[in-house]
Amino acid sequence: MLKDKFGRHINYLRLAVVDRCNLRCTYCMPENGLTWIKQHELMTDEEMLRICSVFTDLGIDKIRITGGEPFVRKNCIDLIEKISKLEGLTDLSLTTNGLLTGQYLPQLKEFGVKSVNLSLDTLNEDRFFTITRRKSFDKVMKTLDGLLKYHFKVKINTVVMENQNIEDIVPLVGLTKELPVDVRFIEEMPFNGNDTNISLKWNYPQIYKYIQEHFPTIEKIADPKSSTAYHYKIPGFKGDVGIIAAYTRSFCGDCNRIRITPSGILRTCLYEGGGINLKDEIRSGKTDQELKEIIINSIDKKPKDGWEAEKLTLTDSSIHQSMATIGG
Ligand code: SAM
Ligand code: SF4
Repeated sequence: MLKDKFGRHINYLRLAVVDRCNLRCTYCMPENGLTWIKQHELMTDEEMLRICSVFTDLGIDKIRITGGEPFVRKNCIDLIEKISKLEGLTDLSLTTNGLLTGQYLPQLKEFGVKSVNLSLDTLNEDRFFTITRRKSFDKVMKTLDGLLKYHFKVKINTVVMENQNIEDIVPLVGLTKELPVDVRFIEEMPFNGNDTNISLKWNYPQIYKYIQEHFPTIEKIADPKSSTAYHYKIPGFKGDVGIIAAYTRSFCGDCNRIRITPSGILRTCLYEGGGINLKDEIRSGKTDQELKEIIINSIDKKPKDGWEAEKLTLTDSSIHQSMATIGG
């Protein structure tokens, strides 16, 4: 069992399989994209699988495939299949923008993926284009239909942004009335791959207040252990509503997660600048046992919270990292 020095049990790995993406969400990356990771710096399938296997040996039982957009990685579905077979893994999930995902739903089901997080910031086609800079709204809605048809547990991720999608909050909460989907409103974080600073108007209390004004019967419900979202329900509605205080970082005390970037960097905190590169360790010939020791050592140094992590890694650069390279 992996534990950090604060006694937090680490059992959840978020694996970003690629940094590239077929959308250009304004809060995640600039219009021209990022300086993409070079092919030889990207982990191969074998390296990703080996790292996952070392982690499951160490007690990680939950892996989420993320990115960039996972299915932009060549043969990502084959990698997911291989990961799904790892001994000790009890929960394999995926975060996706839904553009290419629809065609893989039967296979994902077959590989035991139960839960899929779908990013959807608006229910309006024009606003979708403004936010993502691509005309792909219909594809995402089709994927949402498919996910429900195949009985995946669906969570919709919505980043809340002033002047961009506030008018979508009520319709998105409304989705939970008839559909068994959870909608999670996320505070915008400064991971946009450019030099734009954000001023966070829509923080957790503000988002909650807005929802409560429109749905006065809203009730707090229990939050699962280590959840990053504060959970609510409108009585009689099928799905739940969540708010993720990603920027104000009030959930770190219970954090159970670590991240691996597409180039193999182990990040023990979302707000950390970056830690050891496990791909480089593999390529230098380290054994599994040596990799385990490196990982245990890094996890022991996991910062207390996102504030401490940020303080430790402040850089001179005015360019923020992109969530696509960190693995959101
Ligand atoms: N491309 C996939 C997608 O969009 O679902 C997976 C990767 S994306 C980086 C993962 C999650 O990070 C998405 O739900 C996205 O909304 C969220 N995200 C990206 N940039 C963010 C930011 N600056 N603040 C808050 N959430 C962000
Ligand atoms: Fe792509 Fe996801 Fe970033 Fe949007 S949030 S640009 S879909 S990686």
